[in-house]
Amino acid sequence: MSVHRSLWLQEVDGDAPKAPPLSGRGRADVAIIGGGYVGLWTAIRIKQAQPACDVVILERDICGGGASGRNGGFVLSWWPKLASLARLVGPADAVRIARQSEAAIDEIRAFCVAHDIDADFRRGGWLWTATSAAQVGAWEGLLDACARAGVEPFRRIDRADVARMAGSPAHLAGVYDATAAVVQPAALVRGLRRHALQLGVRIHEGTTVHGFGRDRPIVVRAQRATLVADTLVIATNAWAAGIRELARSIAVISSDMIATPPIPERLAALGWHPDLCITDSQTMVDYYRVTRDGRVAFGKGGWTIAFGGRIGPAFDRSARRARDVEADFRRCYPSLVDVPVTHSWSGPIDRTPSSLPLIGHLAGRPHIVYGIGWSGNGVGPSLVGGRILASMALGTSDEWGRHPLIGRSAGRFPPEPIKFVGAHLVRAAVVTKERAEMRDERPPAWSVRLARLAPAGLEDK
Ligand SMILES: Cc1cc2nc3c(=O)[nH]c(=O)nc-3n(C[C@H](O)[C@H](O)[C@H](O)COP(=O)(O)OP(=O)(O)OC[C@H]3O[C@@H](n4cnc5c(N)ncnc54)[C@H](O)[C@@H]3O)c2cc1C
Repeated sequence: MSVHRSLWLQEVDGDAPKAPPLSGRGRADVAIIGGGYVGLWTAIRIKQAQPACDVVILERDICGGGASGRNGGFVLSWWPKLASLARLVGPADAVRIARQSEAAIDEIRAFCVAHDIDADFRRGGWLWTATSAAQVGAWEGLLDACARAGVEPFRRIDRADVARMAGSPAHLAGVYDATAAVVQPAALVRGLRRHALQLGVRIHEGTTVHGFGRDRPIVVRAQRATLVADTLVIATNAWAAGIRELARSIAVISSDMIATPPIPERLAALGWHPDLCITDSQTMVDYYRVTRDGRVAFGKGGWTIAFGGRIGPAFDRSARRARDVEADFRRCYPSLVDVPVTHSWSGPIDRTPSSLPLIGHLAGRPHIVYGIGWSGNGVGPSLVGGRILASMALGTSDEWGRHPLIGRSAGRFPPEPIKFVGAHLVRAAVVTKERAEMRDERPPAWSVRLARLAPAGLEDK
């Protein structure tokens, strides 16, 4: 498979020799489809709990070839989703789950230290900002929800400090969450892969699963090979849209990133805090950070929508969308106008209506579990997901096996082609609205009304 790789995968051993594809007829206690963070954390937790359990990961590309090796590397908690969580599981469990997601950030750091994974973990916090007057105060509803819950994960930052921390006066206001961190995302996923192998997990890369039975034992079909397993874990992120029972649970949209050459002195002169995660408050969110060697890595969510969950090469890279992302970068950092863009890449996002993941048993079958729908915030939360999926796969009735997120759904999207057409209309409205707001103009009323139908984003606004 020849695909365009992210800057992050190019920096690590992303194209190192693959684990061999599945061949013939194999057997496993637990089969996991998908070798991203979710599949790997699940495999690792299963092995830690039951070392004798035979766990096999089937991955169509290389581990980390999906979103886990392409993302922005923001390690965020679920505090910004507190209100959505409360609607799903009630206020007390919402706080408990948000705390678990905050603890996951510490666990990732500890895991990297314990297993000698150089994932460039740096805890500089998350700055949630406004880069247009219309965005100012996007966080007020969430701050109210936090106050009602008696928690205070966000701190208000005054305008001068926001601009100073972000290194540009385009930032007008913001709030700060000190718990967040950045990582080199591909280094993290490749480190997880290495550790999974050390624990005895069997990995087959270059192995696309074409289908699986629903009865036990489960027959998983790949090219000219089958794997028979007692339990199946589906950890295929946006690709899960191709599974009949899950197709309407997620909408697949792209997220697109660009990167500059290393310019550490220029960024230091701007005062940009190099360990920060920064997002603005658009629905089609801008997210940006500094890499270890002083590049700007800048991304934007939402430009492309997949029909029927078909994820083609446009989800690996698009020159046109890279130009759109670059335009947002130039607007945020006008003083870096002369700095070229050296890398661009894309990846698929598995957006759910609430932007919270879906974890459950496929069509109620206890031996088939899934964890999808991370909605652009999966680097940190996938660790929580891995714990839950491992307990579900092993049938363990601990706090993870009885987790309140299991079996919860915040609604479904309409069937195709209505989903595809509707998503395009809503996206057109969001683009019209947000472009007008960036020019400090009043957006057309139709765009404001239609844009309200967009699924919630990274944050509850
Ligand atoms: C450009 C971009 C930027 C992002 N930025 C951030 C960020 O800064 N912070 C954050 O928290 N999240 C971010 N995300 C989201 C985050 O990357 C994901 O939520 C996370 O990686 C999900 O992990 P996963 O294991 O579910 O998915 P993946 O890493 O995509 O793993 C799924 C795997 O399943 C494999 N697969 C699919 N179908 C099959 C099949 N039929 N057979 C075999 N294998 C199959 C795929 O090849 C893939 O490797 C971003 C995503 C993108 C695309």
